[in-house]
Amino acid sequence: MEEEKDTKRLSVVVSVYNEETALDQFYQETRKVLESLPWDWELLFVNDGSTDNSQKVLDSLAGLDSRIKIISFSRNFGHESAMIAGLDYSTGDGVVCMDADLQHPPECLPEIVARMEEGYQVITMVRTSNASAGLIKNLTSSGFYALINWISDVYFEPNASDFFGISRQVAEVLKKNYRERVRFLRGYVQNVGFRKTSISYQARPRVAGESKYNIRKLLRFSFNTIMCFSNMPLKLGIFAGIFSALIGLGVLIYTLITRQGAPSGYATIVVLICFMFAMMFVIIGIIGEYIAVLFNELKDRPIYIVEEVKNL
Ligand code: UDP
Ligand code: MG
Repeated sequence: MEEEKDTKRLSVVVSVYNEETALDQFYQETRKVLESLPWDWELLFVNDGSTDNSQKVLDSLAGLDSRIKIISFSRNFGHESAMIAGLDYSTGDGVVCMDADLQHPPECLPEIVARMEEGYQVITMVRTSNASAGLIKNLTSSGFYALINWISDVYFEPNASDFFGISRQVAEVLKKNYRERVRFLRGYVQNVGFRKTSISYQARPRVAGESKYNIRKLLRFSFNTIMCFSNMPLKLGIFAGIFSALIGLGVLIYTLITRQGAPSGYATIVVLICFMFAMMFVIIGIIGEYIAVLFNELKDRPIYIVEEVKNL
């Protein structure tokens, strides 16, 4: 590599939650790739309230190189908060978000930088296969994307991940205008516009430690995403109303035609009542979910709280 370095800088944001076993390998591999880039770089680790030794490992990394910056939260705020905190503190001309478990291969960084050089502002990394996720996770994930693309007016790239590259301009837009509490950064990234491109990559298995997402968290996350990007479920009430009116009409006509006496039709009534109530409760539940989102936004609590920073 020529020593003649461009003045441009790449910020790599890495969210860390109990990754003590993965961090060293992550750092070794990523640093090698970063050093080969034509750009200068900074590595921002966001410690999302890890309860293991991640902070110690990070502290020692920060001692090695002032380009390694650490932002430590006061408690666990979640991956979404960690990513936006990294964006907030980043200063590079381009920003890349990555996981600390090496599932997002650092070998892709040179290509991301090359696309940034070509003037692309949003670089979506599309997963071609997810070696470590089982069949069920892959199936539910594609089902989820089919649903959200159907009911939302914005488009979601089905295999997009929390691995993406954005320009400084896009990072500023995300920092200023996307301060929602209930968040879905990869959705925003795909919908801010600008010159977009995508690169496909093969997700590796996690190097060490275990996944922090369980079924419950994933369900919560999917619900929130739907609430944030679609108002369609709120309109279910109208459809359900029309639907039950039609059923009522059908039953009315049927009764008139068959001229049933008073005692018969009992089962029909019970079934209809159960059905209507079920629909009503579901719809009330959905409205409740939206109110919860509204309530969260209204409280205006911080997306994250920083306890300390290093090299910043
Ligand atoms: N993570 C985080 N806060 C959390 C959960 C996860 O910062 O509350 C980080 C985690 O350390 C990892 C990334 O987010 O770098 C993705 O998490 P994980 O690998 O557990 O998810 P998966 O890849 O299994 O979907
Ligand atoms: Mg992972």
